[in-house]
Amino acid sequence: MEAKQTEVLVLGAGPGGYAAAFFAADQGKKVTLVEMDERLGGVCLNRGCIPSKALLHVAKLVDETRESGAIRGVTFAEPKIDLAKLREWKMSVITKLSGGITQLAKSRGVEVVHGRGYFEDSQTLRVETPKGQQFIKFQKAILAVGSKPSLPAAFDLGNKRIMDSTGALELEELPKKLLVVGGGYIGMELGTVYANLGSEVTMVEAMATILAGADPDLVRPVAKYAEKHFKEVRVSAKVLSMATAGKQIKVVMEFGGKKIEELYDRVLVSVGRTPNCYDLGLKNTKVQRDAKGFVIVNDRMETTDPNFLAIGDVVGGIMLAHKASKEARIAVEAMLGHAVTSKDLIIPAVVFTDPEVAWVGLTESEAKAKNIPVEVVRFPWSASGRAISFDRTDGMTKLIVEPETERILGVGIVGAGAGELISEGAHAVVMGSTVRDLAETVHPHPTLSETLMEAAEAFYGHCTHMAPSRKKTAPAAA
Ligand code: FAD
Repeated sequence: MEAKQTEVLVLGAGPGGYAAAFFAADQGKKVTLVEMDERLGGVCLNRGCIPSKALLHVAKLVDETRESGAIRGVTFAEPKIDLAKLREWKMSVITKLSGGITQLAKSRGVEVVHGRGYFEDSQTLRVETPKGQQFIKFQKAILAVGSKPSLPAAFDLGNKRIMDSTGALELEELPKKLLVVGGGYIGMELGTVYANLGSEVTMVEAMATILAGADPDLVRPVAKYAEKHFKEVRVSAKVLSMATAGKQIKVVMEFGGKKIEELYDRVLVSVGRTPNCYDLGLKNTKVQRDAKGFVIVNDRMETTDPNFLAIGDVVGGIMLAHKASKEARIAVEAMLGHAVTSKDLIIPAVVFTDPEVAWVGLTESEAKAKNIPVEVVRFPWSASGRAISFDRTDGMTKLIVEPETERILGVGIVGAGAGELISEGAHAVVMGSTVRDLAETVHPHPTLSETLMEAAEAFYGHCTHMAPSRKKTAPAAA
């Protein structure tokens, strides 16, 4: 069979792969994008970011209407949840977006091949398609095969009541009693969905806190929300074993110095993700992986095989969609011979819990751990007119500042819509903005974005909506 020829082969059409394919095509390259799923968009679009946010939207709606009667005197009936309809709506969101990506590929002349790819050597990919095998010869390949949920062998009973994030997003049923194992962002987000739709959720986290990567003061309001909406949150607790018990799962865990045995209708295991680089034929190339299986790359996303670059979850680090998309651009530029680097990339993180948590740049915990001298200034949302106007005063905005230069090194926000607000912080960190730059930028009123400006004013001790404090000279007039 004659092989197809292409300049750039991209394997995997997630937010890394399709961004790389599109950018390479925009630069005039002949590009072939290979994806084994029937829909483009990867984990992010099909079983990650997008479906989880669609369901979180519904979860929030339910919660807000429940709370509304007690607070504002506007009472709604208890929601009736039609799971089939909800699943259909979630699917319509996915279909719309993946259809859009297919159209965008077409409009750029990117050839899309659906099938599972396997490298025969450093220039040839074999693709198993529904219609048989195809061979593609390429000059350069970009590996963007992503990752999948890790399921520890002890929990892998082949019982569909033990779900990973993909299974949980399918929303087959609303279990009466759900155990969520893992208090990272995926466990917290999906736990919130099930709790608000009516499940009794117990969360178990092995570490001493949920959302371990975030500063403790940013996590506190989320922990409070979880305490109220979940049946229980157990930190420093460890699940030891699971076993099928009729239509339930028997779980044995260690918590508070005791061994506890409990029955759950379903269990969601969200304890991490594994790179998808097995069964790819990488052994037929010079691409090397690290001890955890992630593809090794340099700061130009180049692998140890000169024909291969790799991006996104498969290279590890912060496993987020926007990090994959940024690396896609770096990889294509590197391939074109441009001077680029992924060193010191500023990648904002957002947890879409209620309230949302977002941070960018240096965190307070990291500064402490590395002994980096910083000044931290906080603006509580109880002083924000906008937050008070919709009863969400549980937020807080903080700046992490380099004392000598007054440069903003990091921003942390917890509160409704923190994920939308953090981009201004990301811009400030990337541009090397000072606190004065932020304080002197006029922010529209009444908005939550003012909390960034007011935090900056608080740094100088004269924040309009806080009592004056000791400190600092006023920023000079522009
Ligand atoms: P992926 O999106 O994993 O795409 C890889 C693609 O490669 C897949 O489509 C796969 O089918 C394909 N593939 C693999 N092997 C082969 C092969 N041999 N042949 C052909 N095709 C192959 N990130 C955020 O930034 N924000 C969020 O809110 C967020 N929420 C999430 C919620 C959940 C529940 C989950 C699970 C993840 C979430 N993420 C979120 C993470 C995000 O989805 C990933 O970081 C992102 O999808 C990684 O992109 P990628 O391009 O590296 O790989």
